Amino acid sequence: MRRLGGEKFTVSTEFLVDGTGPARAVMYDKKSSKPQLFNAAGIEYLIEVEPREYDKYANDLIFFLGHKWMPKGYSWIFPMEPEKQRLKIGVVKFKLEYQQIVETKSMRWYLELLIKDYMKLEKYKLIDTHGSTVKYSTGLKDIYYRDNVIAIGDAVSTINMLGGEGIRHGMENAEIASKYIQKYLNKRLSSFRPYQREMQRRYAIKWNISEQMGRRRYMQDSDELIDKGVNYLKSLTMEDMMNILFEYNFQKLYKGLGKYLQRKLKLGWQQINNFFMAKFS
Ligand SMILES: Cc1cc2nc3c(=O)[nH]c(=O)nc-3n(C[C@H](O)[C@H](O)[C@H](O)COP(=O)(O)OP(=O)(O)OC[C@H]3O[C@@H](n4cnc5c(N)ncnc54)[C@H](O)[C@@H]3O)c2cc1C
Repeated sequence: MRRLGGEKFTVSTEFLVDGTGPARAVMYDKKSSKPQLFNAAGIEYLIEVEPREYDKYANDLIFFLGHKWMPKGYSWIFPMEPEKQRLKIGVVKFKLEYQQIVETKSMRWYLELLIKDYMKLEKYKLIDTHGSTVKYSTGLKDIYYRDNVIAIGDAVSTINMLGGEGIRHGMENAEIASKYIQKYLNKRLSSFRPYQREMQRRYAIKWNISEQMGRRRYMQDSDELIDKGVNYLKSLTMEDMMNILFEYNFQKLYKGLGKYLQRKLKLGWQQINNFFMAKFS
């Protein structure tokens, strides 16, 4: 270990957790090859606005999809601290070849676009600006453990690639990990393989579907298709939508299909029934 600009020193420990996020600094040294990683970069502003401006965003989580707002990604406005009228505005961009778009402007340019074009803010105070990266392993192929070292959080891809949510899952992962660490320290566990198994069982399927949906939505769909998707989501209740986005309960997606088709195609229920019978029988 090396202090910033200082001399090297050595520490020893009975047990170590790699919580270094996308760097995965303990599990992979600079020379060792990492699994194939799905990369994204994002920046966020924390701003303070007038109370009447804050009130417009106080009760919603707003996401912006489509090429106008952030090609190859999405942007958002979230309320943060009501007492100080603070909002969080951010953009994220995935680093993959896009079928239709080759060039985009800088992420900061799209962040400013939200402020000028959507919020039309004339006055605000910038409290903080920060950027970070996301590195997610497709198929959860990260190293979860090696002898008395285990990895948690973004270091084992607990971030979800559909909504970019990682904090809650990182904390949930820490709880799972602590159970195994306790057993190991009490000499009731000799390998962390069961830890890896539990983590992959918990996340693999939902994370895989989320990644595929994210890739399609942010990397392939045209604005027209995105509009259709949003239109479809409108046929769901708020509760179902939250269930899909935050609990990854994708069965709820099909719940809206009937209503959507009926609205869109003005079909009767008998015809919708026929459609399902033809598709799934
Ligand atoms: C722009 C952006 C916005 C986001 N917004 C949200 C959101 O609103 N909600 C949400 O749930 N998630 C959000 N996320 C995802 C969330 O930030 C991550 O999932 C979460 O921070 C992962 O936590 P972690 O502790 O595993 O890793 P990190 O938060 O990345 O922490 C890793 C730490 O390890 C340190 N480190 C790295 N290398 C070394 C080393 N060699 N030695 C010592 N220390 C090291 C780093 O400095 C850092 O402090 C966002 C991500 C981005 C990029």
